[in-house]
Amino acid sequence: MRALVIHEAKDLRLEQREIPAPAVGQIKVKVATGGICGSDLHYYNHGGFGAIRIKQPMIPGHEFSGYVDKLGVGVEGFALGELVAISPSRPCGQCEYCHQALHNHCSNMQFYGSAMPFPHIQGGFQEELIVSATQCIKAEGLTAGEAAMAEPFAVGLHAVQRAGNIFGKRVLITGCGPIGALAAVAARRAGAAEVVITDLVSNALKFAEFAHVDHALNMHDNPDALASYTQGKGTFDVLFECTGSAQALGGAIAAMRPRGIIVQLGLGGDMPVPMMQITAKELEIRGAFRFHDEFNLAIKLMQSGLVNLKPFISHTFELDRAHEAFEVASDRSQAMKTQITFSVSAQHRPIKPQPI
Ligand code: ZN
Repeated sequence: MRALVIHEAKDLRLEQREIPAPAVGQIKVKVATGGICGSDLHYYNHGGFGAIRIKQPMIPGHEFSGYVDKLGVGVEGFALGELVAISPSRPCGQCEYCHQALHNHCSNMQFYGSAMPFPHIQGGFQEELIVSATQCIKAEGLTAGEAAMAEPFAVGLHAVQRAGNIFGKRVLITGCGPIGALAAVAARRAGAAEVVITDLVSNALKFAEFAHVDHALNMHDNPDALASYTQGKGTFDVLFECTGSAQALGGAIAAMRPRGIIVQLGLGGDMPVPMMQITAKELEIRGAFRFHDEFNLAIKLMQSGLVNLKPFISHTFELDRAHEAFEVASDRSQAMKTQITFSVSAQHRPIKPQPI
């Protein structure tokens, strides 16, 4: 079994690993598709972000799907070969936050592919993996790539939960990477009356149409693109800040209406905040971090056809080309969501049209 392992910045290796048999309540999966996330890229390009550094070899990856390969004792309801989306959120279920249903704040969280705790939590970018059956959500009707989109989409859904009722509200999203774009999809489904998204990269903004936004603004080409929204006391009721950039946050705050809500998703380290404007406009800042129950909702919304996330998958690479995958994923002028194929199931192999 091969695993992708990051040793330090730009040192990504494909290594052989052993895998145990699934224990009680566990499933052995053949990993199908894994999506490369911003945090994986931070580990790959810089060896970490902020104070979080890779201190030992770590398998990255927390957005992935798999095929059920072997069932541990007591696991029922899954068929061998079946496609499942795998939630990387592994709260302990025992701590005070788990008891308060604040699972994403679990004191003992074992979130995949994270260098936050030490020893690091190994991720899902490997050909085979042992998971708990409770992490597996049946993904019937979806492609392996779509099933791997459930994780970033769940982040967007959780951000909308944090904003509260956004029905009929005017929403600004700063940053049109996968998280910003998927937050836009979530905001639209939650009934936002208007969604405006900004970015500095024209390629990223090309994908905004798949989120059905009203306006996609390029702040690089036109730094004053938000000027009309700053008239009077501002326009937007809700901001989803997905860049982690102080400049983006500052520009967006000027376009916020009094008593607006800022949901901060972008992780850019500490950033200066225009506190005078926040005070005078009585704005509220809320953090949004990971997700829990929203993972199931993400799958349901895709299965029902209410959202289509396929157009956001810009690149798919075979495992042997993982280096190239990480390089392309790092280049926002090319990539939206880059995925790696770890295995292909016979029953899910795409059928090529036959010539007549
Ligand atoms: Zn817990």
